[in-house]
Amino acid sequence: MLEEAKIKRKILTPVKAIKKYCYDCSGGSKKEIRECVITDCPLYVYRMGKNPNRKGVRKKS
Ligand code: SF4
Repeated sequence: MLEEAKIKRKILTPVKAIKKYCYDCSGGSKKEIRECVITDCPLYVYRMGKNPNRKGVRKKS
């Protein structure tokens, strides 16, 4: 068995990874993420873990 297979890793989607990054950037506060004032940050629109370009698009089943 490969060593890598032994390690349980959580694979994140890109927007979930951004949300996690924003969580760190905001000192671990969800309120700070929601109220982020850095609107020119490239991650701003993805900070809540959603992709606004996919709003209304349903997942494939
Ligand atoms: S949008 Fe940018 S500035 Fe705001 S919390 Fe995320 S990484 Fe930090």
